[in-house]
Amino acid sequence: MTQPKQIKNRISKKAASFTESVIREMTREAMKYGAVNLGQGFPDFAAPEDIKRKAMEAIAEDYNQYAITWGVKSFRDAIAAKTKRFLGLDVDPETEITVTCGSTEGMIAGMLATVDAGEEVIVFEPFYENYAPDAILSDAKPVHVPLYSSENGWHFEKDELRAAFNEKTKAIIVCTPNNPTGKVFSREELEYIAELCKEFEVICFTDEIYEHIIYDFGLTNNENQKSGDRKPVHISMAQIEGMRERTVIVNSLSKTYSVTGWRVGYVIAPPDITNAIRKVHDFLTVGAANPLQHAGAYALSLPESYYAGLQKEYQSKRDYIVPVLRKAGLKCGMPEGAYYVMTDISDFGFADDVEFTKFLIREIGVAVVPGSSFYHDKSLGSQKVRFCFCKKNETLEAAAERLEKLKSKI
Ligand code: GLN
Repeated sequence: MTQPKQIKNRISKKAASFTESVIREMTREAMKYGAVNLGQGFPDFAAPEDIKRKAMEAIAEDYNQYAITWGVKSFRDAIAAKTKRFLGLDVDPETEITVTCGSTEGMIAGMLATVDAGEEVIVFEPFYENYAPDAILSDAKPVHVPLYSSENGWHFEKDELRAAFNEKTKAIIVCTPNNPTGKVFSREELEYIAELCKEFEVICFTDEIYEHIIYDFGLTNNENQKSGDRKPVHISMAQIEGMRERTVIVNSLSKTYSVTGWRVGYVIAPPDITNAIRKVHDFLTVGAANPLQHAGAYALSLPESYYAGLQKEYQSKRDYIVPVLRKAGLKCGMPEGAYYVMTDISDFGFADDVEFTKFLIREIGVAVVPGSSFYHDKSLGSQKVRFCFCKKNETLEAAAERLEKLKSKI
């Protein structure tokens, strides 16, 4: 079709102000050039057989029409039970849970439900790329607080975070375990953020989709972690004193059960916020896939051994890929959680991360995500790329073989 000439204002300022997802674009590039895809974070191995079977059974049993808009009751009950089991929190499935189409919808619905035009939302940087369009679509003004990398992992400066809070601040987004850095926020850090949230009456959105992908420690967080202890243990902001009533937990089946394509997520929030989120969610999507929520109720009831197995698998993948990356000349720390490694490419002398990524995909045959897509100021990520390692061992081995050619480029 020929493009109509000179029709003004066809595209909204909002839609024009952000680009398509670089993460998803890299998957298309990987396919085009036959590269091993260590870009977009999705498993290339099979989802668990029993979970798939439950989904097939639910379709056969004819759970094929709309579910109740805020989620199938058995699934919400399972979410409440799992939240009690792992975080020790009492959540009312009737008034505090909304099932969404992935955590992506959960986050944007949460922001649309709470943030007014011009209000500020604090975002640690680097950040998962969705948060930037989320802020634009909800008319929020993002305020970035840097995470700095050092030998001891990633940290923020307390005075810089404090300086970001003011009377216009409506919310802060905390993703822990963190995409893209692999940081796991410590209890002490969460307590500091919590103090500021209470002082400035701010809502905390916590993206907890990697809660079970966390390394070198016990799985549940039932014992209180002592202040200052840097042992990586997942703690939800909602567990910090005084934060339950101001925390919006965003979570999903995607990463814990290796079903990123199902698009089933959920939001746990106090009743007044849940009420608003449910309205926004209803008019955005009506609801998430009914049969998959039935399978989700089963998945969330799996025993401890499932989570231990997942953790062990990912730990061995992390322990394999990090030395491979370092040997290839990429500088990086050890992720404490999630399944990403943010690496420094400065030794290769490329003009920027996009040039390096193109080279890596086309000449070396490995796809990654350019670091700049995790920064508001692209120059801050211009010497970084993100690798993911949620892939079959043979995929990681194929990537390792290809990356051997990289060292000679330094
Ligand atoms: N969370 C994954 C990533 O960061 C996948 C993102 C997506 O494409 N929805 O790669």
